Amino acid sequence: MSVFSECKRIVIKIGSSTLTHETGSLNLRRIEALVKTLSDFKNEGRQVVLVSSGAVSAGVARTGKGRPTCTAEKQAMAAVGQCELMKLYSKLFSDFGHTVAQILLTKDVIDNPARRAAAEDTFGTLLAMGCIPIVNENDSVSTEGINFGGNDTLSAYVALVCHADLLINLSDVDGLYDSDPRRNPGAKLIEHVKGVDEQILAMAGGAGTERGTGGMATKLQAARIVLEAGIPMYILNGKEPTILYELLDGRHVGTYFSTN
Ligand code: GLU
Repeated sequence: MSVFSECKRIVIKIGSSTLTHETGSLNLRRIEALVKTLSDFKNEGRQVVLVSSGAVSAGVARTGKGRPTCTAEKQAMAAVGQCELMKLYSKLFSDFGHTVAQILLTKDVIDNPARRAAAEDTFGTLLAMGCIPIVNENDSVSTEGINFGGNDTLSAYVALVCHADLLINLSDVDGLYDSDPRRNPGAKLIEHVKGVDEQILAMAGGAGTERGTGGMATKLQAARIVLEAGIPMYILNGKEPTILYELLDGRHVGTYFSTN
């Protein structure tokens, strides 16, 4: 039996560079494929939590004002774009018979025991009701000190708060390589990482793309956070979200992180 077959509650994170075209506008074909695949996971009896970036990019595309040049503009773009994102997710998931729920978090919610417990209750209740929580950072009010520093980190805390069985990070790379594949064509994909130690952290390259904030370093930090709680994680290439079916069928794809 594959690891995946035993995972009932799954958190899936998808980043801005995977959700949007290079123009910054939403990649509708990819989002549609993602929604269809996650709907199938639900139909098979799994519980799904989606951590979606893309609010700022969608806001930039919708307003046509160009990339934000200051924090206030970024927060405003996120406010516009978050509506765009949720409108699309709500429409597409409801086409497949599923109900979505928006949850926006800042790091201070996680750090405050009472607020964290409230968030845990909300996730638990939504999942018991059969909804698909869709989570993002509350970028419109998030500032230095209460931010997660990107959705890779956010997704790790969401996995903890939801008591997830698995975290899947859908990225624009195939997984963790032993050296930077953009510079070294001979770089090898590492299929299985047992524990994230300093040697593994050193394999992370630089930052990601202009549209996303994460690179491999934040993904490895996220892996470290969830592994400490005993939750395994995958990094997969989200270019074709149907790659998730490969896991469903028990095939190995991407990089799998586990404690042992
Ligand atoms: N929360 C940001 C957004 O929705 C993205 C942060 C990230 O890409 O890590 O645009």
